[in-house]
Amino acid sequence: MLTLTGARAIVVDEGTQTTGDLHVVDGLVSATPAPDADRLDVDGCVITPGLVNAHHHLLQTAFRTLPGTRGVPMTTWLPTMASAYADAGLDGELSTVAAAAGLAEAVLDGVTTVADHHLTWPSDSDRCLEIALGTTQAAQRLGVRLVFVRGTARDDPEAAAISASQIAAVVAQSDMLQLAVGPAGVHSDAPETFRLLGEVAARFGLRRRTQANEQVDVAIALERYGRRPLDLLEEWGWLAPDVTLAHLCGVTDDEIARVATSGATATHAPGCDLPMGWGIAPVAALRDAGVAVGLGTSGGGSNDAGHLLADARLAMQVAPLVGRPLAAREVLAMATSGSAAGLGRSDLGHLRTGAAGDLCVWDVSGVADAGVADPVAGLLWASPGRRPRHVVVAGRVVVRDYVLQTADEATIVADLRRRVGR
Ligand SMILES: [Zn+2]
Repeated sequence: MLTLTGARAIVVDEGTQTTGDLHVVDGLVSATPAPDADRLDVDGCVITPGLVNAHHHLLQTAFRTLPGTRGVPMTTWLPTMASAYADAGLDGELSTVAAAAGLAEAVLDGVTTVADHHLTWPSDSDRCLEIALGTTQAAQRLGVRLVFVRGTARDDPEAAAISASQIAAVVAQSDMLQLAVGPAGVHSDAPETFRLLGEVAARFGLRRRTQANEQVDVAIALERYGRRPLDLLEEWGWLAPDVTLAHLCGVTDDEIARVATSGATATHAPGCDLPMGWGIAPVAALRDAGVAVGLGTSGGGSNDAGHLLADARLAMQVAPLVGRPLAAREVLAMATSGSAAGLGRSDLGHLRTGAAGDLCVWDVSGVADAGVADPVAGLLWASPGRRPRHVVVAGRVVVRDYVLQTADEATIVADLRRRVGR
């Protein structure tokens, strides 16, 4: 039970803002306080819903700024990353320490839900299960919501489907932990993989996720099939309301209309696609067509940071070059309710009564916010690299006064350094 008192502004959802007190009872936003609630004084602060990172590759947290991965085409980047994974030796321990670091970074930056699209797997299914369990247990220890995506990247289709089924049978899902499936894209995975993972999703009631229309995806689809990626996904049954498409750079007006009609959702990842030169999704056009667009960082191999608010700022800054400017509140909505829509989670990404008690408290009293007329717009426009003072997940304070409460940050760093030597 938690009552936050004295907020200067509370962003309830994209269209609603209030002020004053906010109550969380039994992990949910409540209209009335619990009599025995802990009080958190947030005088002069701004409260927003917890941010939802709709597209991360947590394993890559252990492989940031690797030589040979900056400023190169994706056809060079992919094998460079693959050989780094092979050198490090992929196992449950590596995915656990990488996930712990990535998730701790995320929550310290205000992210309360992370979708981890895990793409790198050994061939034997028991070791795959170790990786899934290591990642999901790291999230449980840290108190962060996780959507673990059993992805594929050139995996054997049958083996991937067996592993995905095994993970879905063993990992207990809850409102804190959700599973999904997701081939890396038509550039890497065969129609058989999409079909078999789609069957696993249908059997276990999982969401489906994939990546589409980064430059290499378009080029390989044309070369291999003589088609565009979205034509293939449509034919393979992967343009549907339960599917989220990450990246979506270089889509035509006709493709935007087809995505909208299909009910599929999208994830923008400018912090990956811009610096790597892989394209820029026409986000405003997607939103204006009625597509729910979320925001993701993608992984540390291309982004190097898992700071979703920084990428929200970047999304806003680059938007005028690919359509029209986006307002701060639109981009904040992408990073919250837009991402949640793609996860099928109507309880996340807003603070209406009954919503999950996931929120960030932003202190806007420092010099970086001095002179700011609109403190909500200022969250994105002012103070690049801003972190929240407090972060609450399901009513539990997991970051207090900028300090992680659920684990020791130095230990997480030391564990990762010991395992990968960086
Ligand atoms: Zn990605």
